[in-house]
Amino acid sequence: MSIAVYPGSFDPITLGHLNIIRRAAAIFDKVYVCVMINSNKRPMFTREERMELIARCTRSLNNVVVETSDDLLVQYAKARGANVIVKGLRAVSDFDSESQMALINKKLEPMIDTVFLTSSEKYTYLSSTVVKEMAKYGADLSGFVPREIIQDVIDKSKTTL
Ligand code: ADP
Repeated sequence: MSIAVYPGSFDPITLGHLNIIRRAAAIFDKVYVCVMINSNKRPMFTREERMELIARCTRSLNNVVVETSDDLLVQYAKARGANVIVKGLRAVSDFDSESQMALINKKLEPMIDTVFLTSSEKYTYLSSTVVKEMAKYGADLSGFVPREIIQDVIDKSKTTL
């Protein structure tokens, strides 16, 4: 059985993330989407809110499970029996840091491989940071985040101005 972990901050989940989740769910038997805490970023949504937003957008994908973890990624992956870490690559700039992380994770846990899925060209420009910026200015978010969560992002951006 191939089990994958797709980690990220998902603050909030974007159409780019969802595209990677859908494709990973078609390749692997089970995909754990794991909300990780990045202490360098001040989040817009709490981790529970982020998990709920992801769960809402992935409801139709039966082999996707949404979780969160404070552990080191490879420790979390190992505990779930995962043999793959999935990462989305938008541009060469992502590759620099992601390849370093992949090598470190391989060193820590040689049985777990990192698999990179290239971002769909429609979403290469898209990041959660862009979404938060657009929301602040009241821009139309329909091309950026799943429609199920548009209102949540608008509401939250009003309260976090
Ligand atoms: P962000 O950079 O948007 O804050 P995250 O830390 O939540 O993103 O990213 C989690 C994973 O999703 C990373 O592997 C990242 O490269 C990937 N990712 C983010 N946005 C996209 C996108 N638009 N297309 C493909 N992959 C993406």
